[in-house]
Amino acid sequence: MIIAIDGPAASGKSTVAQKVAEELNYSYLNTGLLYRALAYVLVCQFGYTEDRLKNFKPDKELISEIFNSGDLEYEYKNNQAKVFYKKSDITTYLKNEAMDRCTSLISPYAEVREPLVKYQKELAKVNKNIVTDGRDCGSFVFPKAELKIFLTASVKVRAQRWKDFLINKGESIAGLDSEYEINLRDTRDKERKLAPLVQAKNAVLIDSSDLSIDEVVSEIISLAKNKK
Ligand code: C5P
Repeated sequence: MIIAIDGPAASGKSTVAQKVAEELNYSYLNTGLLYRALAYVLVCQFGYTEDRLKNFKPDKELISEIFNSGDLEYEYKNNQAKVFYKKSDITTYLKNEAMDRCTSLISPYAEVREPLVKYQKELAKVNKNIVTDGRDCGSFVFPKAELKIFLTASVKVRAQRWKDFLINKGESIAGLDSEYEINLRDTRDKERKLAPLVQAKNAVLIDSSDLSIDEVVSEIISLAKNKK
């Protein structure tokens, strides 16, 4: 069974999706990590700066080559999602303020989404049972997913969770307007033409503003058991 969990920034998707995968002994595909990895590679290996990404002109050949060469690889092993570039583990560099912004700048483009969606589908073929999370997993990439969840929370709660995450990572949040940044990313994700962030028609809406992670996880697991 495919369980697709979509939702806006910092709604807790990855934490919840990974726990659901662990409990059900499913594989886990974190699609956001893939978009982040591509942004990271463009910035760190190919000289793109955040300013250049604001007027991004995607180089289709370069992006196809990054995927076709197999240089970028996603792995889920021992309950850990990792991304490798040329066999080096780059996962630790992907979740920070700069990558949040750079990723949301590149993700609207077809030249980015097409090879990434193709790769996600290939990864999902390897495992029959998979939990995947992102923005378009239920609405676009896996329209036949047996269970679709749209996980959200108020902007205030999500902004606080994101700040807590950065503080826990030891990052400075001085001058950070977290609500503004979250709204900016959501607006870009919702307003893009290709596979925008939407609640898929048959997705179950879960508002986690007043729920703990474990409460959300058990709700999804009981929905999954009912589907079996
Ligand atoms: O889920 P996460 O916050 O890690 O995603 C980072 C960014 O990647 C999102 O803001 C969005 O722009 C992009 N993304 C996407 N489609 C997905 C997953 C992520 O466009 N399925």
